[in-house]
Amino acid sequence: MKVTFYGAARTVTGSKHILTTIGGKKILLDCGLFQSKGTEELNLHFGFNPAEINYVILSHAHIDHSGALPMLVKQGFSGPIYCTRATYDLCRIMLADSAKIQESDIAYINKKRAAKNLEPREPLYSQDDVEACMKLFRYKEKYTEWYTLDDELEVSFTDAGHILGSACVNLKIREGHDKVIHLLFSGDVGRPGDLILRDPEKTFQADYIICESTYGNRLHEPRVNTRENLLKIVTDTCVKRKGKIIIPAFSLGRTQELVYTLDRMRTEGLLPDIKVYVDSPLSINATGIMRNHPECFNADILEYMKHDTDPFGFNNLMYIQNVEDSIRLNSLDEPCIIISSSGMMEAGRIKHHIKNNIGNSKNTILIVGFVPANTLGDRLLKGADEVKIFGKEYQVKAEIKELQAFSAHADYEELFDWLRPQNPKKVKRFFLVHGEYDAQQAFKERLLAHGFNNIEIPEREDSFDLT
Ligand SMILES: [Zn+2]
Repeated sequence: MKVTFYGAARTVTGSKHILTTIGGKKILLDCGLFQSKGTEELNLHFGFNPAEINYVILSHAHIDHSGALPMLVKQGFSGPIYCTRATYDLCRIMLADSAKIQESDIAYINKKRAAKNLEPREPLYSQDDVEACMKLFRYKEKYTEWYTLDDELEVSFTDAGHILGSACVNLKIREGHDKVIHLLFSGDVGRPGDLILRDPEKTFQADYIICESTYGNRLHEPRVNTRENLLKIVTDTCVKRKGKIIIPAFSLGRTQELVYTLDRMRTEGLLPDIKVYVDSPLSINATGIMRNHPECFNADILEYMKHDTDPFGFNNLMYIQNVEDSIRLNSLDEPCIIISSSGMMEAGRIKHHIKNNIGNSKNTILIVGFVPANTLGDRLLKGADEVKIFGKEYQVKAEIKELQAFSAHADYEELFDWLRPQNPKKVKRFFLVHGEYDAQQAFKERLLAHGFNNIEIPEREDSFDLT
């Protein structure tokens, strides 16, 4: 058997790895879009022939793992795509949203190209391509169950605790009569103690491991009391100053965690009598899918749901679908909380809410997630007095607050917790993917100290024989 890496190689996006069996079968693990700055051009060519792929096995619905699937189908792939049921449900909305973004991005690019007399480009894929792609999904109902895909291949998904439906991919690959190779692909590994999801689950012993390394050189800060801090910010802003709280948050994951936290505070009589708006169509759809998958929830939220059947809805909480209703929030003159996307504040309706509220000292902009360098969120956190939004300068008068919310990625200690079921002596080779090179090198050193050997940090299109 052979493994070749086509993405997430010394970078964190574009996850794509191909296993080639001795019978010549090709299995693609994940099919993500490159999203990091400067890697977008890599999306134009796969580097392999999609028509030659027999199966796709998908770890989870994040676009950097699933976002190139419609393109794969457009360019000739026609086999099945295996994943969990929640991943299938999420892919339907995530890929449709991604197609919308591709279409609007290309309109902008083509305007620039036209000015230079260049031919217009096509979007990477359209809604029709997404529809065709969704027809190839074959979801599996249960975690940890082994499913036979053919006489060479068995798969078992173990819960990765990263986002709804996320899985680590455990494979048994038969070679001849008596040899079976066990391979483990981590996908993205979550953190123990998530508000909604279960902890990452025990994996099966593997001969070969392909492992993410996003935080291979980092430890998360100790968990702080998010609830108490959030309540203080709500009281200071909405009760004392009669202002608004604007919270940029990713549509899937962070938004539901926030809503669930507020829901519990409301039930316990802690939340003041103010309106809460979730202003993002993708959040509405993602929350709907979350409601349909309580089988992915942890014991704590399931216990809470015995008394409150909808942990993502309460009096005073409104989900905003239409643009007109979103615009109406601008003229609202009362204390409230507005949660909107995207979390990085570089796109989406959140930019309008920040623009409209940043100039008033009554208000608070509350940052709850990771913000990369050189983004609006980064500038606000660094204490900028003025920021540019839609090409215009705005004075920062609103209070800027940060809540150490939960990251969806395990740090290196948590990755070692996840690796605990693996006996390092039985692992023949260990591949590090999905990380920046310095994080990967640091993680490699730690793996060696834990007794793992033969650790590789592949570059794009590197290939290894697994014999
Ligand atoms: Zn992910």
